[in-house]
Amino acid sequence: MSRPPVLDPLFRSLSSIKGVGPQLSALLARFFGAPEGQEAVVLDLLLHMPSGIVDRRRMDGAANTYVGHIATLRLHVDRHQPPPRGKPHVPHRVFTHDETGEVQLVFFRAQGGWVERALPVGEERFVSGTIGFFNGEKQITHPDYIVPVEDFEKLPLVEPVYPLTHGLAAKALTKLVGQALGSVPQLPEWIPPERFAGGNWPGFREAIGMVHRPESPSQGDLGGPARMRLAYDEYFAGQLALMMVRSEVVTARGVSRMLTGEITTRVEAALPFSLTDGQRQAIAEIRADLVHPDRMSRLLQGDVGSGKTVVALMTMAAMAESGAQSALMAPTELLAAQHYRTLKPLCDAVGLGIELLTGKMAAGERRAALAGIASGETSIVVGTHALFQSGVAFANLGLTVVDEQHRFGVHQRLALSEKGRDTDLLVMTATPIPRTLVLTHFGDMAVSVLRQKPAGRQPIDTAVLSISDYDRIVARLKARIEAGAQAYWVTPLVEESEVLDIVSAEDRYAELQKVFGERVSLVHGRMSAAAKQKAMHDFSAGRTSLLVATTVIEVGVDVPNATIMIIEHAERFGLAQLHQLRGRVGRGSGRSACLLLYKGGLSPTAEARLETIRKSEDGFEIAEKDLELRGQGDLLGTRQSGMPGYRLAVPDVHRHLLQLAHDDAAAALARNPGLVGPEGEALRVLIHLFRKDMAIPLIRAG
Ligand code: ADP
Ligand code: MG
Repeated sequence: MSRPPVLDPLFRSLSSIKGVGPQLSALLARFFGAPEGQEAVVLDLLLHMPSGIVDRRRMDGAANTYVGHIATLRLHVDRHQPPPRGKPHVPHRVFTHDETGEVQLVFFRAQGGWVERALPVGEERFVSGTIGFFNGEKQITHPDYIVPVEDFEKLPLVEPVYPLTHGLAAKALTKLVGQALGSVPQLPEWIPPERFAGGNWPGFREAIGMVHRPESPSQGDLGGPARMRLAYDEYFAGQLALMMVRSEVVTARGVSRMLTGEITTRVEAALPFSLTDGQRQAIAEIRADLVHPDRMSRLLQGDVGSGKTVVALMTMAAMAESGAQSALMAPTELLAAQHYRTLKPLCDAVGLGIELLTGKMAAGERRAALAGIASGETSIVVGTHALFQSGVAFANLGLTVVDEQHRFGVHQRLALSEKGRDTDLLVMTATPIPRTLVLTHFGDMAVSVLRQKPAGRQPIDTAVLSISDYDRIVARLKARIEAGAQAYWVTPLVEESEVLDIVSAEDRYAELQKVFGERVSLVHGRMSAAAKQKAMHDFSAGRTSLLVATTVIEVGVDVPNATIMIIEHAERFGLAQLHQLRGRVGRGSGRSACLLLYKGGLSPTAEARLETIRKSEDGFEIAEKDLELRGQGDLLGTRQSGMPGYRLAVPDVHRHLLQLAHDDAAAALARNPGLVGPEGEALRVLIHLFRKDMAIPLIRAG
């Protein structure tokens, strides 16, 4: 069902905005997490929430300002003092005053005479910035704003501050948001009147305006009416979509599969190990689903390294017994290829046809693979979710397995349920999710859990250290690497950050190259797929010993010989993410170590969090502890991984709205399952607005 036309202005691509060229457009697409190859749209700007507010309303005169505070002053320009010739490090000073006192404006490396032009001697200007103090004088270094008196209107007295990225300046972003605000249409109200009455909430358009152009700092407050309303909207859209899928899943008729046990027995015999009790139990639950006439929709939860892949293989083998094919989908091509490499020998051993489908296969290879899939000769197809988008024709697809890690979300599952409409569905996730959260994110599914790790796993020695021990840490690492070990070194960022004092993967790589030379390689999300693949291959083949990476490696990289995990700025990662990262080691039989490096003083909460990781390796225990320490927060790790998560709702603040949205969604769908009439139209607008429209095809007539 197509998008309601009223939303068209919000879904225009950003390159249609004045001042957005191809380069900026690409940067914004990455920044807003637009799917590969797609542009970001106007809506992405509007849903990019400020992280804070700058208050420039203090205008009491130069003498009444406080050092460290932001003030806006109407200043008379008295004289300029440019740096002496040949001393470019000396700043350019401008002496000014108002009726209360004097203040100096200071500019470092000001070239081209722009300071003189912006502040002509003898004239008045409004100047806004942070008050500093130097040599007994009040001063403003690099004022944020200098505007002529008649342009006072242009000076934002209450200014939202946005999360930024390298190459995107605050003023540029603010300007873009301003343009985007002009295209917000008046939308029909989708919030049920009962809910509205208590909340004194503004309409959607008004709320977006209040957040991006607040008249007072409190208008943008997380707990204020505007943000509350927007958070509710986001939850409401999500709950509607989830319930639509759920009812579809429950009512979808599946196929009762005939399982002979013939192939699964051979697969089990071909495994180089025996299954754990947990694996046996999960497989039994899955087999019961397959035999049952309802469609299977099951979540397999298990920590990193708990052995989910084998469970998937046994499920796919059971499917093959019943004469149907399976698709195994990974979040990245890298992971798909890795799954294929793991499964291929086992499949070969028992005569199960398996194919890998990727975007960059040669045409001939691809044709051959497609032929095998169409004829039914191939029982298992491994790929990314592009598998379903590219119109691959299956002879008889019976099962979709999604290796979700935590990159996928409801959105992907919706896409699946549309394409693989009648297939059984198994979703595997490595994120240990406490019971309450399972309900909100995976409420449509039955759950199997792998709690125990395969026997023979060595515990991981985890230590928390300050980065000030860098030299000692590197020396020890060097000794281990010379003895044949392999290690990961993870940082939170790709490139150097202007705003934050955080070391980036690129910096650390350059630094470590001085010690390890050719033995170190780099992988991060901004690299081309080919370059990533090469870096990973070099590492897994042992050609390099140290892999500097951003969290791209969090998702499923498997190098058993890697026994050391070093995480820099560990204080900046979520607990779930630290746990995932640590799970990259301890996979082989060797003893493994994990170093959590932090910078500066740790807050008590940060300390408690790192201590939790140090003491426990049980993902469920860690997840519960995380919940206790800071609420739902970023437990699913979605904020960093850019997938689905919430953009407007901040669970720590808005959690209580989820239950309301849940109840309202259930009531709305019960009242109006076909989403008809004005109410239905408004709900459709909401669902499209939050891009949950994959659920729309599932609306049942009347
Ligand atoms: P994950 O749940 O993270 O996907 P994997 O399926 O990749 O875990 O399994 C991690 C490792 O454990 C693999 O090398 C796999 O071969 C091994 N493994 C899985 N099941 C068992 C088992 N029952 N006994 C011993 N090793 C196992
Ligand atoms: Mg896995």
